[in-house]
Amino acid sequence: MSETANRMSGRECNIPPMPTHVPFSISPLGSIYNASRITNEDNMSNSLVRLLLISNSTLHGSGYLDHAEGEIRDFLAGVRQVLFVPYALRDRDGYAAKVAERLAGMGFRVSSVHQAPDPRAEVETAEAIFIGGGNTFRLLKALYDNDLLDPIRRRAQEGSLRYMGASAGSNVACPTIRTTNDMPIVEPPSLRALGLVPFQINPHYIDPDPNSTLMAETREERLLQFLEENETPVVALREGAMLRVEGGRVMLKGVAAARIFRRGQPPRELVPGARLEL
Ligand code: ASP
Repeated sequence: MSETANRMSGRECNIPPMPTHVPFSISPLGSIYNASRITNEDNMSNSLVRLLLISNSTLHGSGYLDHAEGEIRDFLAGVRQVLFVPYALRDRDGYAAKVAERLAGMGFRVSSVHQAPDPRAEVETAEAIFIGGGNTFRLLKALYDNDLLDPIRRRAQEGSLRYMGASAGSNVACPTIRTTNDMPIVEPPSLRALGLVPFQINPHYIDPDPNSTLMAETREERLLQFLEENETPVVALREGAMLRVEGGRVMLKGVAAARIFRRGQPPRELVPGARLEL
């Protein structure tokens, strides 16, 4: 393999190669994912993947994960132990303890990957993984540092690992983290992420406020700027929304509608209970 091909395949700098199950091609620069046209049929070409991608872990007026509890219980039915990934926050012990307590209340045992002597080995044997929210750059960097992207991706694609993400944890299920709302407080080796779905997510989506005097870009403007530079569609999840991916279908769940952004088309709305057809 040529040096360039090596670099493009990620071997040289330990960046995972392109996910193979989604209809993407890599740009000559080797750094930008371009989705080719995604049809209803190849929407999720891998029907083994099981994901629950939550916009936000706390919904205003309720407790941690309360708004998603019904969906989590259903999604994790039959699972006894969940492997938690606390890398998005600095206080990993505190975060893991909070999640362990919350999921214990739903009947699941929790172990945290940061306490394991061999994090990769934990991923290899887990039944389910939960990647919590926080700063997406910090999260992705730690996933690279611990060499966890490959085993998580492979096992999720094989259908042997159920994947649950909240916010930053949903961002890293996407081809890249280019549609996060976070600041790059640290620098991961690449913006490429797990690529378990053929679209980007923007969590905590907020609609433009017609009365706002703020001069900063609206979220919608930021996402349209993303589409000026990238072809991958974006699913903007308002707080209270979540995506359930199973059997090759992507369904919107939760209590809020999502807004779908696609290059060259006006944004459109998806209501809870509807199937996402990009
Ligand atoms: N910081 C968010 C989170 O709670 C992620 C984001 O807004 O992109 O994980």
